[in-house]
Amino acid sequence: MNNPLFKPQAIILDRDGVVNEVVIKEGKISSPHLPEEFVIRRDFSHFCAFLFHLQVPVFVASNQPDVKRGLMSEMALAAMTKQLCGEYPIIQEVLYCLHDDIDACACRKPKPGLLQALIEEHRLAKETTLFIGDSHKDVLAGQSAGLKTVFLRKNYNQASLQLCQPDIIVSELMELTSMFTSKEGTHV
Ligand SMILES: [Mg+2]
Repeated sequence: MNNPLFKPQAIILDRDGVVNEVVIKEGKISSPHLPEEFVIRRDFSHFCAFLFHLQVPVFVASNQPDVKRGLMSEMALAAMTKQLCGEYPIIQEVLYCLHDDIDACACRKPKPGLLQALIEEHRLAKETTLFIGDSHKDVLAGQSAGLKTVFLRKNYNQASLQLCQPDIIVSELMELTSMFTSKEGTHV
């Protein structure tokens, strides 16, 4: 990474695989469906502490179609969100798309609707806001919204990486901190 140092105005993260661990069910990557399956990634925890130090606000934008698919209750999802925001008050807002493909909504990633809503509501500068995800759908959504994109590379998403061209690829969120400065006015 040869990017110059900059102060992000905001960091937007995908949830599953970035904020919390993915769940492996019958050999497949899945989302947590129960609060007890919701395990925050240690790397995210360290990253939040760093962003708190820099006073950079954090947002979460996540597809959660499994309520509609009957695999998770709305109460369980709400409990996870409550836990997350309670433990990490630096998180300003968590936005979910609860639709499925058949709904043809504007918010299900790779569509940019969730990100556009956050950008507009919080008046985020696209040049200095990063969107971090672990899927090509995240990268495509981020690029459609005009954001710089970060792909969090893990052993389960190598094929997904082949389907997109993120601005930055890291194996841990904390790798990004070497790019950040507390000084205002610098750009990616
Ligand atoms: Mg994910």
